[in-house]
Amino acid sequence: MRHNFGAGPCILPQEVFKQASQAVLDFKDGLSILEISHRTTEFEAVIEEATRLVKELLNVPEGYSVLFLQGGASLQFAMVPMNLLPEGQSASYLDTGVWASKAIKEVATFGKSNIVASSKSENYTFVPKDFQIPEDSAYFHCTSNNTIYGTEMFAMPETNVPIVCDMSSDILSRQIDVSKFGLIYAGAQKNIGPAGVTVVVVKDDILGKSGRKIPSMLDYKVHIDAGSLYNTPPVFSIYVAMLNLRWLKSKGGVAEIEKENIAKAQALYTEIDRNHLFKGTCSVEDRSRMNICFVMNNPELEKPFLKFVEENGVEGLKGHRSVGGFRASIYNALPITSVHHLIDLMQTFAEKHPN
Ligand code: PLP
Repeated sequence: MRHNFGAGPCILPQEVFKQASQAVLDFKDGLSILEISHRTTEFEAVIEEATRLVKELLNVPEGYSVLFLQGGASLQFAMVPMNLLPEGQSASYLDTGVWASKAIKEVATFGKSNIVASSKSENYTFVPKDFQIPEDSAYFHCTSNNTIYGTEMFAMPETNVPIVCDMSSDILSRQIDVSKFGLIYAGAQKNIGPAGVTVVVVKDDILGKSGRKIPSMLDYKVHIDAGSLYNTPPVFSIYVAMLNLRWLKSKGGVAEIEKENIAKAQALYTEIDRNHLFKGTCSVEDRSRMNICFVMNNPELEKPFLKFVEENGVEGLKGHRSVGGFRASIYNALPITSVHHLIDLMQTFAEKHPN
């Protein structure tokens, strides 16, 4: 059995992959999900169910819209200021990693950004908590989980400014209070579905204030009015996302998966802290439950350890090049048995290297 600790794209349960592959061959009357028209009642039912499941699983209140868009989270870096930042005003950003800084870079085309705090000088190993958000900011942008560095924001600041959050790598992994946010976006390819679709949850009344003419494809309002069917949507990605959302619901929803995610992360961090060969790279209170970054006290053992785990069925453990060491991505679909398998391997390796 393979144990996939890779950071993506698209780590989903085997049963979802099986259902998806069946729908490629025969979705309805011998037709593939890839070939039926997106204007059929069958596909409209798919997008309607996917939208309903996002609303249900995230407990989205009245007054918000759920969209399935394209362009990945990276397009949201630009769509957010284009739609929400009026000329002459500035938007506040928290800089907690490469993705946050890419989001900041995109603001310059539309207006000014104000970086309220940054952990860059410490290679993004913590999430800054001591900062002020100016009341006149158009919005405050943050990244809830920093996929590359393994830090996560477990609390949002108290502010009257609308909070915009990139939740690409921790959406649906833990319960959140959507009413605290003006806009949430997530590239689908971690806990939602295949790459190619981006989920946006937006509070309707924050839209329409930019004073800017927005191209149709980049205008949230256009997509809301069209029910995410303004143009040809990424039908397969949306279909597989729907299957995965059904799977999550059948597991007991976000509250249940959160318990499992806490158990998985606790087990692995406990071993990293206990085992004399390993150490975590991030400040303990900000440790991510989705991407667990760690290194070895003796860097010379890193290659042999990686070889050892790969020979024993572990995939994707190599850390991101900007952090080094290892990154265990333990998204919703990764079973706790895989985490226990990795822990066993860490212990076996430590027995072979007692000093
Ligand atoms: N934001 C976060 C937190 C990510 O982890 C990623 C990709 O992994 C992105 C943004 C970029 O997403 P995309 O490739 O969908 O543009």
